[in-house]
Amino acid sequence: MESAVVNGGVSFWLQQLPAVPARPTLRGAVTADVAIVGGGLSGLWAAYHLTAERPDLRVVVLEAERVGWGASGRNGGWLSQLIAGNRARYAAGREGEAGVARLQREYLDGIAEVVAVADQHGLQIDAHRGGNLVVATTKAGLARLRARAAADLHHGLPAGNVQHLDPAGVAAHIDVHGAVGGLHYPDVTRIDPAKLVRGLADVLEARGVVIHERSRATSVLPGWVTTAGGTVQAPHILLATEGYSGPLLGKRSIIPVNSSMVATRVLTDEEWARVGWAGLDCLSDAAHTFIYAQRTADGRIAIGGRGNPYRFGSGTGGDGHTPQATIDLLSARLRAYFPSVDTRIEYAWSGVLGVTRDWCTSVSFDRATGIGHTLGYAGHGVTTAYLAARSLAHLSLGLDTPHTTLPWVDYRSRSWEPEPLRWTGVHTMYRLFRVADWWEERQGSEQTCWIGRTAGHLAGLHD
Ligand SMILES: Cc1cc2nc3c(=O)[nH]c(=O)nc-3n(C[C@H](O)[C@H](O)[C@H](O)COP(=O)(O)OP(=O)(O)OC[C@H]3O[C@@H](n4cnc5c(N)ncnc54)[C@H](O)[C@@H]3O)c2cc1C
Repeated sequence: MESAVVNGGVSFWLQQLPAVPARPTLRGAVTADVAIVGGGLSGLWAAYHLTAERPDLRVVVLEAERVGWGASGRNGGWLSQLIAGNRARYAAGREGEAGVARLQREYLDGIAEVVAVADQHGLQIDAHRGGNLVVATTKAGLARLRARAAADLHHGLPAGNVQHLDPAGVAAHIDVHGAVGGLHYPDVTRIDPAKLVRGLADVLEARGVVIHERSRATSVLPGWVTTAGGTVQAPHILLATEGYSGPLLGKRSIIPVNSSMVATRVLTDEEWARVGWAGLDCLSDAAHTFIYAQRTADGRIAIGGRGNPYRFGSGTGGDGHTPQATIDLLSARLRAYFPSVDTRIEYAWSGVLGVTRDWCTSVSFDRATGIGHTLGYAGHGVTTAYLAARSLAHLSLGLDTPHTTLPWVDYRSRSWEPEPLRWTGVHTMYRLFRVADWWEERQGSEQTCWIGRTAGHLAGLHD
């Protein structure tokens, strides 16, 4: 039986904001200099960067549902330094490791830039730079964290931007039951994602950008975007539909991977003191089936993880209703980490993130057709959307900037397998990850077990 949880309804974050009337649907034929498809962070940041460079540009954004309806209004609210994609693959590109290090620098700067933009425009996004505590509760997990930190340094993260922690060091950040060690990344900044995406849309409208909601692009051809109600004629068209890109770009180009979140009741000050979560760090763990969490501004734990990872045929899951089994899984992790407090769940929701076949981001603009895209953030999209949209905006304007030569520019991943192989592969991979977690805990493995290594290699996650 389902517990009394507010389930779906897009996200907890959006439900906390005042309801606002929908923006007008596109009706009839309009012209613009740039048409952007997708009103999430990527589409809106693209409009932001375009109009920052060229305030006179006529930009129209088409959003199928409402601004922030996709992952941008549903995510965990981590502005993170984690590079979306496989760094080793990026390093095989034009600029080698130097390109990856440059990308890493962009992420570190990007976190601060997003917060600065919000401040500049008076957006209250509940930003707090508490860092990211990654805990290990098994020896194998700890070994993975050591390897991860070494890879971070190898790929250009400055030494001061990651710190190793012993169990006491972990507890000094958050008292996670059973922690055997961890890492701390000081730059990660917690935000309220819905406040960011909604606020950004308002900023753009003040700049003269036109946003149409409930205006799904049904076809994109050079110079034309068509919706059920109208057309936009524009020489440049930028696709920013991430996990929802299948219908426009082909279901084998990117898959929608599901991520689910729950938010607890509001904890009391005394309970927060008991879990020792004073610094507002974002929390994640070293499990193969990892979780990510934040302490919300109103005093809840919002925690996410995979649950049912993928729907047959690249389904995108509507307004985010979440199966009870997934809610139970996330609740169990909360109880294991914080046994001394009541972590009863009050909200649950889910969303999809876009994953390319090798987990890498692709930003591209074809001058011949005037069509460009940004996609494939693999669940690390809050900072990435800001950066990748800047690459795309600058490419479409024909600018030659450091952002137009980042490793993700013109990066191509191979196609996903057709169904039913796609469904079978993704589900097998996550099943293996679950078994690997169970095995490592049971055996007390010192290193990642062969099952976890196999799943990681199958997934192409290793860098
Ligand atoms: C539950 C969850 C938790 C996450 N947590 C984090 C996190 O903490 N940190 C992090 O860095 N990343 C996180 N991510 C990933 C991050 O949210 C995304 O990578 C990022 O928001 C992608 O932004 P986007 O604008 O590219 O895509 P989206 O926000 O998905 O926006 C795409 C938009 O395009 C619209 N659209 C689709 N098709 C059409 C069409 N044909 N015509 C018009 N519009 C269309 C959709 O309605 C949607 O609004 C999370 C994702 C999920 C789902």
